[in-house]
Amino acid sequence: MRFDIITIFPEFFGSLPDQGILGHGVVSRALRTRLASAHIHDLRAFTHDRHRTVDDRPFGGGEGMVLKPQPIYEALESLNLSLKSSRTTISLQRETVILLSAQGKRFTQSTARRLATLDRVVLLCGRYEGVDERVSQLFCNEELSIGDYVLSGGELAAAIILDATVRLLPGVLGHADSSRYESFGEADPLPPTPNPGAPCLDSETWAATEPSSSPTPPRSTNASNGILDYPHYTRPADFLGLSIPEPLGNGDHLAIRRWRRHAALAKTLANRPDLLADAELSDADREYLATLGYTS
Ligand code: SAH
Repeated sequence: MRFDIITIFPEFFGSLPDQGILGHGVVSRALRTRLASAHIHDLRAFTHDRHRTVDDRPFGGGEGMVLKPQPIYEALESLNLSLKSSRTTISLQRETVILLSAQGKRFTQSTARRLATLDRVVLLCGRYEGVDERVSQLFCNEELSIGDYVLSGGELAAAIILDATVRLLPGVLGHADSSRYESFGEADPLPPTPNPGAPCLDSETWAATEPSSSPTPPRSTNASNGILDYPHYTRPADFLGLSIPEPLGNGDHLAIRRWRRHAALAKTLANRPDLLADAELSDADREYLATLGYTS
C-alpha cells in the first residue's frame, strides 16, 4: 500500500532509518519490509515564484491566509492519479485523496479499516486558515477530521491516519489478532452462556468446548465489539503496593476471560459511556453493568 503526503513541512514526518514517524516502530517496520511505502511531497516544490509562495489572503476578508489551489493541483498532477470521478473505492483504482480538515468527517477505527483495503491513499495537509475550497471540490474524495479540536496543520492528523492504517495491513503486526481484538475491534469469543438450570461451565469444560480456532490462553486483547480494551498488566505483580488483579495471576483461563470482560465494561462505563448504547452486550454484560449502576 502506498501513501503520498503533501505538506509544507516534509521534515515533520522524518525518514528511515530512525527519524520521526516514518523511522519508528510499526510504521518503520512496514516501510522496511515493503508492506507499505510513504512518499512525502514538499508543496513548495510546486511553486514558481522566488519566495515559493503557497498561501494568499482570503477573498471576502478576515484574518489569516489560505493555501492556494495551484501548487496543490500541480502536486497532485505529479502523482499520476486517476481522475477524481473514477477514483472510487469500488473502482479498480482503489485510490483516495483525503483532505485533512477540522470540518471533515470523523476519522475512526472503521475509517482506518476501510483505508487499509486500498492500494493508495493521498493525504493533503492544510495550514493557516485552511485550503482553498476548490481543492476539495475538484480533487479530493473525502475530508477527514481526527477530532473535535483545531490543530495548526494537517501533518499530525496525517501521521495519525498513516499509523492507524498501516498497523492494520496484513503482516505488519507480529500477531494478526493484535489488531482484531483491541478497542473498537472485534470481540473475543466469550464462554457460551449455559442453558438456564444447567450447571456452570468450569474452565476445563469451557476449554474443551472452544472452537479450535480460538486459542487458549485468552488473547492479550479481547474486549471490543463496541467497547474499550481491558486494562493490561505486566511484571512485577506488586508495584508500589498495588497488586495485579487476582484472576490474572493464576492460570484459570475462564476466570481471566471473565475478569477481562468485566474490566473492559467497567473501563468503558467510566471513560466512554456513550459507546455502551451501540455495543453488542450479552445478558451477562448487562447484569454486570447493572451492578455498576448502568441501566440502558
Ligand atoms: N479555519 C479552520 C482551521 C484551520 S487549521 C477551521 O476553523 O476549521 C489548519 C489546518 O490544520 C487545516 O487546514 C487542516 O488541514 C488541519 N487541521 C486542523 N484541525 C484538524 C482536525 N481536527 N483534523 C484534521 N486536520 C485538522
